[in-house]
Amino acid sequence: MKYNLLSVNSNPKIQKSNTLSDEFWSCILHLHPTNTRICPYQIKAGCKEACLNTAGLGGVFPSIQTARQRKTDLFLNNREEFMSLLVLDIIKFIGACERKGKKPAIRLNGTSDIPYENIIVEGGQTIFEMFPQVQFYDYTKIPTRKTNYIYNYHLTWSYSEADSKYAALFDKVKHNIAVVFNGKLPKTFRGRRVIDGDTHDMRFKDPRNVVVGLKAKAEAKTEDNGFVIYT
Ligand code: SF4
Repeated sequence: MKYNLLSVNSNPKIQKSNTLSDEFWSCILHLHPTNTRICPYQIKAGCKEACLNTAGLGGVFPSIQTARQRKTDLFLNNREEFMSLLVLDIIKFIGACERKGKKPAIRLNGTSDIPYENIIVEGGQTIFEMFPQVQFYDYTKIPTRKTNYIYNYHLTWSYSEADSKYAALFDKVKHNIAVVFNGKLPKTFRGRRVIDGDTHDMRFKDPRNVVVGLKAKAEAKTEDNGFVIYT
């Protein structure tokens, strides 16, 4: 089945989730983290260079980057058409999940950080309200997003020590916290238990109040500006 925006069956970590779970089938949307209109905290959190955008096949095939840029340009220049295509893709994906007997899970910000809760799509509804049967989830660098009232949207806040004020938010954010480690995952970090976040991508299944430990990949392996924590 052809999708305009969503990547289905192509992301290795999402595929791990799909192999492990009898309950959910997941897919992802990848944009290009071009600038702060796509990722508002990419400078403050120091994550632009180390972004997973260049991990896996995204760092090998230029065509993947071209496709991500094309989608990003559409988002920036024709929001209405972008959201219409997204709605059509989600309807298709829900149908595919029904045929598999699984519940749909969608990560909209695979390589972006867009507060979709602020985008009204149709009939005054957000994408989360339009599709209550979908479990949406994301990582975010934006500490001020207020999404706890959206029962079908799970957020994990992504930590960085690139900026001391940003790092100080560790004790304040209400979400689970993802930390990228270079080296062995520690058992605890800043007083919270660390779980291995690389075994699957279904962050909405994680216990509460943990640190989701992620191993540094691609460009992040050589990053030393505080986004990656060395152990
Ligand atoms: S916010 Fe996320 S997607 Fe955007 S540049 Fe940083 S790591 Fe990449």
